[in-house]
Amino acid sequence: MFEKVLIANRGEVALRIHRACREMGIRTVAVHSEADANAMHVRLADEAVCIGPNRSRDSYLNMPAIISAALITGADAIHPGFGFLSENADFAEMVERHGITFIGPSAEQMRMMGDKITARAAAIKAGLPVVPGSPALESVEHAIEWANKIGYPVIIKAKDGGGGKGMKTAFNDAEVKEAYTMARAEAKAAFSSDTVYMEKYLQKPRHIEMQVLADKYGNVVHLGERDCSIQRHHQKVIEECPSPALNQQQREEIGEIVRTAIEKLGYTNAGTLEFLYEDGKFYFLEMNTRLQVEHPITEAISGIDIVREQIRIASGATLGYSQKDITFSGHAIECRINAENPETFIPCPGKINEWHAPGGLGVRVDSEIYSGYTIPPYYDSMIAKLIVHGKTRNAALMRLRRALEEFVIDGVQTTIPLQQEIISQAEFIDGQYNIHWLEKFLEKKQNSKPKAKDI
Ligand code: ADP
Repeated sequence: MFEKVLIANRGEVALRIHRACREMGIRTVAVHSEADANAMHVRLADEAVCIGPNRSRDSYLNMPAIISAALITGADAIHPGFGFLSENADFAEMVERHGITFIGPSAEQMRMMGDKITARAAAIKAGLPVVPGSPALESVEHAIEWANKIGYPVIIKAKDGGGGKGMKTAFNDAEVKEAYTMARAEAKAAFSSDTVYMEKYLQKPRHIEMQVLADKYGNVVHLGERDCSIQRHHQKVIEECPSPALNQQQREEIGEIVRTAIEKLGYTNAGTLEFLYEDGKFYFLEMNTRLQVEHPITEAISGIDIVREQIRIASGATLGYSQKDITFSGHAIECRINAENPETFIPCPGKINEWHAPGGLGVRVDSEIYSGYTIPPYYDSMIAKLIVHGKTRNAALMRLRRALEEFVIDGVQTTIPLQQEIISQAEFIDGQYNIHWLEKFLEKKQNSKPKAKDI
């Protein structure tokens, strides 16, 4: 087992990884930007190294600085968390070249899945159902040709896409022209490549993803699904598991398809396969070759510490259990709490005057925040994840309502009021929602606001 792990991340996920390491008797090295010198993960880690100025590209994305920090401190492995360098195959390769273990899959597997076009091809080969789609689009004419082949509506997506960027829908030929140009421009600005492709645009799907774990010896398990359909701008806001849309038979069927596919792909470590689910059918979207933000809900119902498993697998340990040993209990829901205005979603960094996190049975809060902490303006605005677990979905909902009521974050605006509103809507309570529900709800809310009177 490793003696020292460097955590190449910040915020709550850095803390999450530190906790898993400490419970395994592993020492930790925090790396941080100048702005994060007082961050909780820096305070708690055994050692800390400043790797650069505030901008991510000068610090958390600065590969030579991170590798130097690992070499200087004698770390034998690096955990990349999520975001930043977590899906960067060049980084994984560089880490391994320096004799340090990258806690994640191989660079080759990351490359295959990081490109949505090759990932689709690999998925088809491995027996996964995919959304009908095109190869890389070469011109507007090519795009129109494919749109007509697939049938409207379609969505144009960036090959290297992530975070919901570079995606444009089109309902007819004229819209394809515009969507093609816009998606390429957005992809070029956000990612290194402007290569785009097309998929059938499903109109009322749910986003259902499957968590997998695979060791280096071909043992693969799935840890069930997560329903992440409550989204705004293609970004997840609330996640729950099990999905209210699936029954036990459907769950077992897709679980087995996924498990077999991962075996065929020879993938190792933790990963998530994202699907759209509509009218009883699954359509593979992409695979994330890293830890997911919403992993704690799976941990709640499976009792498995996913970060611990990532570290064990990377160190060469066998899983030590098989699918039949995995059991699920109860229901879990996660709310992502952002330091943002809950109506305009404008980030609201600043000083936290008072912080009181909810507690009690079945409540987990993953956050780097403490009273007196100042949220820097340079990074993602998510400041906490509230995860509740109950025997039934209803019990989890009641617990979530109670926990949100208890939360006190004074000094900055947060999305807690919005979360409270969402979970009190009939459609959410009944589990009757798809990926468009939240945006429609927000639109309705906006339209029902009294307008300024004309003079
Ligand atoms: P990213 O990698 O940017 O997160 P994904 O491919 O995972 O992109 O898609 C993110 C979200 O965009 C999905 O959860 C879904 O809401 C929407 N989406 C993507 N592809 C489709 C599609 N073919 N039909 C309908 N919605 C889609």
